[in-house]
Amino acid sequence: MRTIEVKTQAREELVDITARVKEELMSSGMKSGICYVYVPHTTAGVTINESADPSVKEDILMTLRKIVPDSLPYRHSEGNSPAHVKASLIGSSIKVIIENGQLSLGTWQGIFFCEFDGPRSRRVFIKASS
Ligand code: ZN
Repeated sequence: MRTIEVKTQAREELVDITARVKEELMSSGMKSGICYVYVPHTTAGVTINESADPSVKEDILMTLRKIVPDSLPYRHSEGNSPAHVKASLIGSSIKVIIENGQLSLGTWQGIFFCEFDGPRSRRVFIKASS
């Protein structure tokens, strides 16, 4: 397993980690299989979406804020329940098919680390498996 560090800059942020996942895949030498990307945090997640237009990241965050309001009577005493809920909606892992040593992402797709309770230092685990 490989680990990449992500330093987020804002409370909520989608960080494009595609290039870093590709680097780890290259150094793994895996030519064919599955690449798992896993986020070991309860207030962050990972998703695949459009990387060409940065407005898409903002639209995703705006929509999540609408679905998960800050103003609900949350019970979790730490005060970051919206971040926990958003993390569960987005999910903790993605997988991408590896073919010819490359990630089989679509032309417009990128892999995004999703921060919901930053800024923080975060980790992402990557495992390539045949
Ligand atoms: Zn919490």
